[in-house]
Amino acid sequence: MTTIITPPQDPRVRRVQPRRHEPAGTNRGRWRLLSTVLAGAIITISLLFERSVVLLLPLFFVLIVPFEKLFPRHDQRLRRPQVATDMGYALSGPVMNFLSVLAAIPVGILSLAWLPGLALRPLVDLIPPAAMPLVGIALFDLAIYWTHRWYHEVPFLWRFHSVHHSTEHLDWVSGFRNHPLDGTLIAPAFFFLLAAGFSTEFTGALAVVQIVTGLFLHANVRWLWRPLHKVVITPEFHHWHHANEPGAINSNYSVFLPAWDLLFGTYFMPKDRRPQRYGVSEAVPTGMIAQLRYPLRGSANPLRMVRHPIHGARAVGRFVRHALLPDLWRSARRPRRPSHSEGLDEGSLWATMRTV
Ligand SMILES: [Zn+2]
Ligand SMILES: [Zn+2]
Repeated sequence: MTTIITPPQDPRVRRVQPRRHEPAGTNRGRWRLLSTVLAGAIITISLLFERSVVLLLPLFFVLIVPFEKLFPRHDQRLRRPQVATDMGYALSGPVMNFLSVLAAIPVGILSLAWLPGLALRPLVDLIPPAAMPLVGIALFDLAIYWTHRWYHEVPFLWRFHSVHHSTEHLDWVSGFRNHPLDGTLIAPAFFFLLAAGFSTEFTGALAVVQIVTGLFLHANVRWLWRPLHKVVITPEFHHWHHANEPGAINSNYSVFLPAWDLLFGTYFMPKDRRPQRYGVSEAVPTGMIAQLRYPLRGSANPLRMVRHPIHGARAVGRFVRHALLPDLWRSARRPRRPSHSEGLDEGSLWATMRTV
């Protein structure tokens, strides 16, 4: 029997009611003042905690901006809209990273990604030392592929990752925009590799390389590097990942090797057009403090968990059983994008998908 598969609900294109993120009336002024003070406090603590930020940011600026000026992808000024928000994230890096690491440890343990790592360990022990880095990169990228895919396709996880994707202008500083709890995206890959027998130094170095190359991938440069398209990821690949355009939604999840997108059917690199529009279709607020609050909207008060731990644990268990696990499973089982889909819009793509 032939059945037509209806498109799964895509959290990136859900139409949501616009939300009021600031109090109304005279309170709006107070909210803005409070946000500015809070952002200033986070930046000050960050700079006291890690002064190298003051050197690193000009270094990134000098390394990337000249190429953005010489080979611009989009005609945009350095002082483009919301650049102050992204600079706020860049200057808050040390505090954000600290919070990310705090959250990443329990997420890495609870993700159980270390279980397949342990299962692979006897095979990893057989790999010649010279081949270990390449295998390590491929396995790390495989784990990141799946967590990144789920952070897009599972609505609860998308709340956190949508902050990164809310920027409508990609450039040297836009890659810094990340919710600290979105930093947990890398945790399962880290635990997976450690359990498989790779050293902490190697895994840590991969995480650092992924973060630094990530900054370059957001740069506003028009380079295509077509011969590399299916070998390593390029700015074009990641710009398509950020594109809020038909056909591009939920594609290009790898962070090193497009091989995983090719294998799992999410590769999207049309030859006949370039990404034009970025951002998300939902109402993510502007400003760093409002964005830090955004994914937590509607969440239960954590103090209630402390006061009623058994009730809270049951509620978390119900959420995992009835929402999180089914959403993970639905994303893992969704049909592949056919290789001839380049250039098709999302609606026609899903409408033509059939199973027998
Ligand atoms: Zn993403
Ligand atoms: Zn990005």
